[in-house]
Amino acid sequence: MRIGTPREIKNHEYRVGLTPAGVRELCAHGHEVFIEAGAGLGIGIADEAYVRVGATILPTAAEVFATAEMIIKVKEPQPAECAMLRPHHVLFTYLHLAPDPAQTKALVDSGCVAIAYETVTDARGGLPLLAPMSEVAGRMSIQAGAHAMEKAQGGNGVLLGGVPGVPAAEVVVIGGGVVGYNAARIAVGMGARVTILDRSLARLNWLDTTFDGRLTTLYSTVDAVETSIARADLVIGAVLVPGAAAPKLVTREMLGLMAKGTVIVDVAIDQGGCFATSKPTTHQEPTYLVDGIVHYCVANMPGGVAHSSTFALSNATMPFALALADKGYRKALLDDPHLREGLNVHHGRITYKAVADVLGYDY
Ligand code: NAD
Repeated sequence: MRIGTPREIKNHEYRVGLTPAGVRELCAHGHEVFIEAGAGLGIGIADEAYVRVGATILPTAAEVFATAEMIIKVKEPQPAECAMLRPHHVLFTYLHLAPDPAQTKALVDSGCVAIAYETVTDARGGLPLLAPMSEVAGRMSIQAGAHAMEKAQGGNGVLLGGVPGVPAAEVVVIGGGVVGYNAARIAVGMGARVTILDRSLARLNWLDTTFDGRLTTLYSTVDAVETSIARADLVIGAVLVPGAAAPKLVTREMLGLMAKGTVIVDVAIDQGGCFATSKPTTHQEPTYLVDGIVHYCVANMPGGVAHSSTFALSNATMPFALALADKGYRKALLDDPHLREGLNVHHGRITYKAVADVLGYDY
């Protein structure tokens, strides 16, 4: 199969859909790979690195789209990219169609086959192509939070790990899923005192066993949230209720329980955030103050560490990309019900129920 990866054109997106290692795998399976010139430059991957493993560099995205049968990307296609999609194309990338009627219409009109990373499932009910970005965001939340705790950033001036004779910071993680576990791992590793809250007893059980007493687990109630944030230096918001906006677990009034200079990192901001006072921010201006509480609410945290994120994403997408290329999309989807969950658009029809329902398409 001919596979193409254009340079990402969304504002401040430096990730790339295929790494040289990924290209090498695809070429070893007998496929041809076409990369747009400069696609990897944002994370230091030169065109020559792709050429060395068998890719052909094409000067423009238009040539990549015109040559390839399958397009592997990172972000949802932008209008200029949608205009280049044809019915013979298979598009494999993040789509997030539900809140995006314009992109959905463009994909339907193009007649292409669009498979979304974010709705591919695994045997345990997880989302294997979203998980790597949650791992990145969870780990990053602690380094972002630790930086925001510095006085110059508006924080309370507490050092996350403390020093001998001085207590470490109190970190509270609300939601103990992929983001929460990874946040807790880094916070514990840096010597902080960590409390993690979740509504799933099974998850609390797993966290307790995994951390073997190195953190405190709490069943998430209004009471537990209030008492823990009141003594926190850093609070991480990491809840997810699948298919719904994040519940507002910390109200504006509850901010009054927290000392000035406390930092909140609302990772769940991409689902609306779990603090009532959260609003999305960017890597350029990541924080703002409400009642003396520092809010960090960057909606695309993994983009800030585009190098690591590219490799983490590519590791997860590669087996699926290989299956699609080796078998052709029809057989790959028929053989794998989890990959089939990723199919959102098929030759002019919406094939993912939640998207069809929200945007008023026949399903
Ligand atoms: P997950 O499903 O693995 O974990 C969510 C956890 O929240 C679950 O364990 C669930 O039991 C728990 N939960 C639900 N309601 C709760 C409540 N009331 N109190 C406490 N816990 C509760 O999800 P995840 O992969 O960890 O993602 C968490 C959030 O982070 C999502 O909104 C995701 O979209 C977001 N995210 C944001 C970024 C970013 O750049 N900002 C990056 C990756 C993920």
